[in-house]
Amino acid sequence: MVLQNSLEVTAVEVKHLTKSFNKIAALRNINFSVADGEMIALVGASGSGKSTLLRNLNGLHKADQGIVEIYGTPIQVNGSLHSNVRKLRSQMGFIFQQFNLVNRLTVLENVLVGNLSRIPSLRSTLRWFTQQEKEQALAALERVGILQHAYKRASALSGGQQQRVAIARCLMQGAHIILADEPIASLDPESARKVMELLTVLNQEQGITVITSLHQVQMVRHYFKRAVALRDGEVRFDGEVAVLDDFKLNEIYGTATEELVLKGHAEAFTS
Ligand code: ADP
Ligand code: MG
Repeated sequence: MVLQNSLEVTAVEVKHLTKSFNKIAALRNINFSVADGEMIALVGASGSGKSTLLRNLNGLHKADQGIVEIYGTPIQVNGSLHSNVRKLRSQMGFIFQQFNLVNRLTVLENVLVGNLSRIPSLRSTLRWFTQQEKEQALAALERVGILQHAYKRASALSGGQQQRVAIARCLMQGAHIILADEPIASLDPESARKVMELLTVLNQEQGITVITSLHQVQMVRHYFKRAVALRDGEVRFDGEVAVLDDFKLNEIYGTATEELVLKGHAEAFTS
């Protein structure tokens, strides 16, 4: 089920991806593709393989077997990274649960660092940037609603604000694809809502392809039309979120379903 514009273009294609750690399978013959401009959720309980899969998409991790293609170019094939992996990776922004900002740097500097792959290393080390780069970074901060905090240290911001800075960094990088690994798992409900809405707006208005792992099914139902559900490293569901109802979840996860259902403020996210 593909809903956005540029439908013919495939942003990410995963074929027969398999990965083990110490002979224990973390990903088992994973196959799926994501159209350019699509926004999909990767759902699964802890340990189901979400992080491993996301890190394989941009070649941060290598699989044992299988292929990952980014806009038709294989970034990894059977555990070998493409010689141009850096260039391919520069098209993909990565957002982590713990924000991964450099605390001692300002918010603005953190966003500028998102441009690292495109600027000479000496300049980046000296943290010296052109006026144009700074303006670009400020525009990215304005886009995510954090402009007023540009000159504060990253550590002075709340978790939700830091996550929005991480998103601004992806924009600065010029990412066409955002991979987000549990981006709201450390946030309060209100901050989580803002981050999810921001990702949705960037998807809808800028056509950025978004692949987000989540383990809260209410969030998935509220913000996504398509979900890929993993269990024990296997794709157990790939389709419309509407089909992933409680019955289906129970069929896939059994008693582990409980981990996927957010308690407490669930009512805020039931549509
Ligand atoms: P999720 O993100 O869904 O919680 P992960 O991708 O982190 O799942 O983990 C999938 C499986 O791979 C788990 O069994 C986990 O213990 C294992 N695993 C992940 N990373 C490593 C690693 N670096 N070394 C050993 N085992 C790992
Ligand atoms: Mg994880």
